[in-house]
Amino acid sequence: MKKARAAEEIGELKALLRKSGLRSTSARLAVLQQLRAAKTPLSHAELAKELVPTGLDRATVYRNLMDLAESGLVARAELGDHVWRYEVRREGHDHSAEHPHFVCIDCGAVTCLTDVHVDITPTPGSKKSTISSLTEVLLKGHCGKCV
Ligand SMILES: [Zn+2]
Ligand SMILES: [Zn+2]
Repeated sequence: MKKARAAEEIGELKALLRKSGLRSTSARLAVLQQLRAAKTPLSHAELAKELVPTGLDRATVYRNLMDLAESGLVARAELGDHVWRYEVRREGHDHSAEHPHFVCIDCGAVTCLTDVHVDITPTPGSKKSTISSLTEVLLKGHCGKCV
């Protein structure tokens, strides 16, 4: 049962890669699978920690991460600590900010705010906004565990 589900997931990921014009190599599948399983964006270091024990080296993880980001399958976010984090782009989104992120200033935990949409709306009567599109929305505060 569990095995059948895993095979189904691999099939799905292969189709995704194909659609983005990437060859589905086992390394690329492993990186994509790891990102899909994560509930928060992962840094290269975090990904490598999971994937190096499975036989991939850090450079391979990095190279595949870059390929996935370039193809648009994976979104990059820099959440104020100069670390790039990567997450799988949900389907049906363009390249603008797909969802805001919340970072706890105490423990550094990152949360994807997937059911929130942030837009820039100039207040009535103000001059036209100088912003044309948002690429990243970052909220900071204290998480539920750190209050
Ligand atoms: Zn916290
Ligand atoms: Zn996210």
